[in-house]
Amino acid sequence: MIRFKSGLTPFVIQQYYDALTTQGIPCVVRNQFISGAMGELPAQDLEPELRLINGDDLVFAEAVLKSLKEDSDAVAWVCKTCHEPQDAEFNLCWNCQSPKC
Ligand SMILES: [Zn+2]
Repeated sequence: MIRFKSGLTPFVIQQYYDALTTQGIPCVVRNQFISGAMGELPAQDLEPELRLINGDDLVFAEAVLKSLKEDSDAVAWVCKTCHEPQDAEFNLCWNCQSPKC
C-alpha cells in the first residue's frame, strides 16, 4: 500500500476515491473522519489521505485524476455562429453544429 494523495480536504479525497474505484483501482481513505481528535495528535497524522493498495496502479491513478480535473475545468460556452449557450461537455453547437472555438 502506498500513500497517493494527502493534504487535501476530505471532500476532495472522497471525490478522488470515487473516481479511482469507478476505474477499478483498489484504494482506501485514511483519517477521513478523525478531525475531532485534532489537538490531541500530531497534525500530519490527521490529514485525510488516499492510499493505493497496489503501487503499480500509480500511473493509471494519476491519469484518472488528471482526466477528472480536466472535466471539472470545462466551462459552458456560447456558439460564435448562432450565439446559443452550450453545456461544457459538448464540443459542437447543438443548434448549428459549429465547433467550439
Ligand atoms: Zn451554433
